[in-house]
Amino acid sequence: MEKRVVLLLTGGTLLMKEGEGGALEPAAYTHNLLSELPVLRRIARVDVEVVCNLDSADMQPSDWITISRAIHRALDRPGVDGVVVVHGTDTMAYTASAAALLLGPVPRPVVFTGAQRPIGEPRTDARGNLVDAFSVATLPVPEVGVAFASRFFRGTRVTKRDAHSMDAFDSPDFPPLVELGLTEHIAHPLLLPGGPLGPFDDRLDPRVLVVRVFPGLDPALLLHALDRGIRGLVLEAYGTGNLPMLGGSLVSVIEEATQRGVPCLIVTQCLRGAVLLERYQGALAAVRAGAISGGDLTVEAAVTKMMIALGRFATFSEVRSYLERNVIGERTPI
Ligand code: ASP
Repeated sequence: MEKRVVLLLTGGTLLMKEGEGGALEPAAYTHNLLSELPVLRRIARVDVEVVCNLDSADMQPSDWITISRAIHRALDRPGVDGVVVVHGTDTMAYTASAAALLLGPVPRPVVFTGAQRPIGEPRTDARGNLVDAFSVATLPVPEVGVAFASRFFRGTRVTKRDAHSMDAFDSPDFPPLVELGLTEHIAHPLLLPGGPLGPFDDRLDPRVLVVRVFPGLDPALLLHALDRGIRGLVLEAYGTGNLPMLGGSLVSVIEEATQRGVPCLIVTQCLRGAVLLERYQGALAAVRAGAISGGDLTVEAAVTKMMIALGRFATFSEVRSYLERNVIGERTPI
């Protein structure tokens, strides 16, 4: 039977062309993408919807909600096998992670893709990525993820790792879900398919600060940020989650934040490995002050999960337990 895919367009380089001063800008390909790439119609019947047309550097959490709502509607349409979302690469990992967490278990594939070079250029990577994204969208893969350079990654595990190469994405701490080589090989156990989607829950609070810890970081700056009303703090700590405990100690910041009901989630700056907060005295002091372990969450997943936790839950302990839990395959259970 003919497959059916909903194609949601949100912008990004794939849809751009050169504008003012030779710099790339969102262009009119939103209307004729299928005529640029008619082969997509051989994979599935395609319903196209333009959600927005932005450089993804301009995406805001409100856009994640608009896009996720459009995905939710598309998945609800009878007969749809999957959804493909064209998105800029710069913040695709954030949107994919937010969509996965906002939507919860999905019944069918939701495949984000984009390109390093516009579809109108001869040496574009757009064609291969779109064809792969459509292929994944017609497979029994009930996941929200990113298809790029012949691999499909879980959306809450993926990160943009290369600004130059066509192989721009990776999920360094988690295997790709599908490898699109000679065959389409499902390479890792998948999430269980969700049942019929419930009403879309759009609650999210963007008042989150992410800080990469570095030698010389002044804790007073973080105390000022608390005074300015941040509601969640993500600290990218060293190695297994270690933090300074002598000069520049962040313990008082974590204590103060926790007392104010502001959760402090610790993730690692490293590309691989999880946070183990009891391993060094610096991290142990942070735990005693109230720090929450982010396990092996990526920074993108940590930020989006924190925003959603703050939007959905009223008490500190509910936020904490949501952050510590594996909700949709974003962190390895301890
Ligand atoms: N600046 C572009 C964007 O994220 C980059 C890309 O799509 O590759 O929209």
